[in-house]
Amino acid sequence: MKHELKIHNNLHRKKEVFVPLEAGKVKFYSCGPTTYDFLHIGNARALVVGDLFHRVLRSFGYEVNFVRNYTDVDDKIIERAKELKRDALAHAAIFVEECRTDMESLGMMPATHTPKVSETMPEIIKMIEDIIKNGSAYVDDGEVFFNVPSFKDYGKLSKKDLDSLQHGIRVEVDSRKKHPSDFVLWKPAKAGEPAWDSPWGKGRPGWHIECSAMAKKFLGNTIDLHHGGVDLMFPHHENEIAQSEAANKCPFCNNWAHNEFLNFGSEKMSKSLGNVVKIRDFVEKYGGQVLRHIMLSVHYRARLEWSDEVVKRALEEVKRIHEFVVETESYKATSNGAIDPEIEKCLDNMKEEIANDFNSAGAMGQFFSFLRYVKNQKDQLSEASLTRIKETLTFVQEALGLIHNDPERVLRELKKNEQDTTSSDVDAAWIEKLIAERAQAKVSKNWARADEIRKELSAKNIVLKDNPDGTTNWKMN
Ligand code: AMP
Ligand code: ZN
Repeated sequence: MKHELKIHNNLHRKKEVFVPLEAGKVKFYSCGPTTYDFLHIGNARALVVGDLFHRVLRSFGYEVNFVRNYTDVDDKIIERAKELKRDALAHAAIFVEECRTDMESLGMMPATHTPKVSETMPEIIKMIEDIIKNGSAYVDDGEVFFNVPSFKDYGKLSKKDLDSLQHGIRVEVDSRKKHPSDFVLWKPAKAGEPAWDSPWGKGRPGWHIECSAMAKKFLGNTIDLHHGGVDLMFPHHENEIAQSEAANKCPFCNNWAHNEFLNFGSEKMSKSLGNVVKIRDFVEKYGGQVLRHIMLSVHYRARLEWSDEVVKRALEEVKRIHEFVVETESYKATSNGAIDPEIEKCLDNMKEEIANDFNSAGAMGQFFSFLRYVKNQKDQLSEASLTRIKETLTFVQEALGLIHNDPERVLRELKKNEQDTTSSDVDAAWIEKLIAERAQAKVSKNWARADEIRKELSAKNIVLKDNPDGTTNWKMN
């Protein structure tokens, strides 16, 4: 069965059949992380969604040229490096490596190219020169601005028009800008900041130009698909379009897809709101497979509301999937009969869900029905059904990454996590029991026993605090 891939294209705000420029090949760009600190699980959502697109395109037979950048030159990096009295590029290089570690733990397939801003300066400078030459940028004292009103299509992605933008701008406008929406392409560097020679003096690029330059360098002037978090649609992606189209004089990208936020409570998880869970901390506790699973359990255009319940469900599901994978290894065919149609249909159903704008949640639903059915039928499987089960698992592993290549390892990690949780529960119960016994000992004036209990707990780094109302609290020291 042929599955026609449809993508919700934000350029037109509707689902469209995906037709790449060149048959069988896809030029795909995804905006990558800024490397100033450890990534949080909100960033993980954007990364896993980019990886989902990459894997699905490949499994649908496309040859994919996939670029995901590292923003290693940026104000946040410079600020953080200053605080740590570190060279900004050296600081960014440390976090590029930390990002790589996180991406690996999320089971992400390597991108074709992972360029850094610091290694793309000649292309960035050349592109700014082209934009100036084509009349869409102006230079003012070492600084280059993009002239937004010169680009007639500005706002075609975010559906904003220049008038509403002008009225919407509250912050004080840089007096050198000719229009409040104009944005920086190049700026002079202050002493101690990373700087590169350019026709406009020593300086560094503005944020947006890097993605335009990297896309052109590795993919060409027009690309098939561009992805990022929904917060990047404006101004970042709108500005990428303006820059690329002003420089190259042709369309920049035919399909734009954005993932929704991961929310914590009612707010977006973000560093500035201080409500972040680091990928590293989550993975250490539960394993990367569980985090990946959570990210794919919701359609990428729906909000993902983070909660203990979401984690608990994912833990159970990851366990169920990996136990099933291990179990199937011992399945034996009992006949040479026809393929069981119930077993046969799952793979097509999953592909149909995925072809419908990468509906990973729908595909997961199909897979869980399949899993329940196969377990019930395990003693009456034909050779053909068994082969189909293997093909189905391969799809789940390759196109979705929902099956780790070492399922036993995932099960071991989950077991360890269960034991840790249980043992800490037992500890808490044990502590409470001793506290109650100590209270009783005090009532019966058995001071020796009360003291003994305090010492016993103290030996395990547990500190007691007696409250004026007679109750006792404890904490780990
Ligand atoms: P940043 O490092 O802030 O530029 O973000 C890197 C990527 O993570 C971008 O594609 C953002 O849109 C995405 N991102 C950041 N926070 C969240 C969040 N809470 N939920 C989903 N995506 C996010
Ligand atoms: Zn970008």
